[in-house]
Amino acid sequence: MNPTLLGVDIGGSSVKALTWSPAGGVGQRWREPISREAGAAAVIGQILSIVDTSVARSGATAIGVAVPGVVDENAGVAVFSENLGWRDWPVRSGIAERTGLPTAIGHDVRLGAAAESARHPGDLVFVAVGTGVGAAAVLDGRVRATRFSGEIGHLVAERDGPPCACGKSGCVEAIGSAAAIAGQYTKRTGERVDAREVAARLERGDPVAGEVWRRAVDALAHGVTAAIAVLDPDVVVVGGGLAAAGHLLFDPLRAALAPRLAGLGAPQVLPAGLGQWANAVGAAQLALRSSVRDGSGNRDNRRRRTSCADKDV
Ligand SMILES: [Zn+2]
Repeated sequence: MNPTLLGVDIGGSSVKALTWSPAGGVGQRWREPISREAGAAAVIGQILSIVDTSVARSGATAIGVAVPGVVDENAGVAVFSENLGWRDWPVRSGIAERTGLPTAIGHDVRLGAAAESARHPGDLVFVAVGTGVGAAAVLDGRVRATRFSGEIGHLVAERDGPPCACGKSGCVEAIGSAAAIAGQYTKRTGERVDAREVAARLERGDPVAGEVWRRAVDALAHGVTAAIAVLDPDVVVVGGGLAAAGHLLFDPLRAALAPRLAGLGAPQVLPAGLGQWANAVGAAQLALRSSVRDGSGNRDNRRRRTSCADKDV
């Protein structure tokens, strides 16, 4: 049996979906933008619509969803997302009822860490840098997960730095995320650009892009250093949208880490092998594990199907 699983990764500015199978790996891939300015209810509507389309295209037998923010995996609930605005969204039951497919949810960065750990023996810290900044650790072959673990994006890197969505100022995420890089550049120049464009201007020698980028890398190095000091991993894998900047990110990040890590371990710092798709692959793999563990689907879903059948009778 080689089931096709659907992995969905809810990001701050887009939803990525892919099919994955144990024998064939990644198959089809899709990416659709979402508009978080529209508010949480509208964003949830957009996400559900993208899931519908992906299910119809994929022929998947189960769904895994990578969810940002605070996530209660056991209850299947997206508890809180600063960037997307929801509170207590019952993702698992909502998608399972809508699609009729067994559905599992997990924390986005932890799923990315699990997917990347298959490529790296030893202890690993996965750092996702996109709209936000988060980290997760795989130690002794297990993803370590509690509610707030890995929130290095909300360590304060600059005491009087820019305001963060969490309410503090100067957080790593408020300076070093892709969204912050774009925001800081726009604030300085009045030009509305994304982080990819800032990277392109950095390469062309734009001095403002250079300053914004250096500051962002310093903030990221601050957060990554904390994770390394606590966890002593063999490798740090950086994924998320900003990792697509390649050497523009990794060369200065390694240089910024070196003096900070004097006297500590010096793990390799590598780009995610799965690129921006690590979380979605991890979500599809979660769907497989959940399906195998629970038979045709998770318990809540089976119970719900039973109750629907009862009503039909
Ligand atoms: Zn913060």
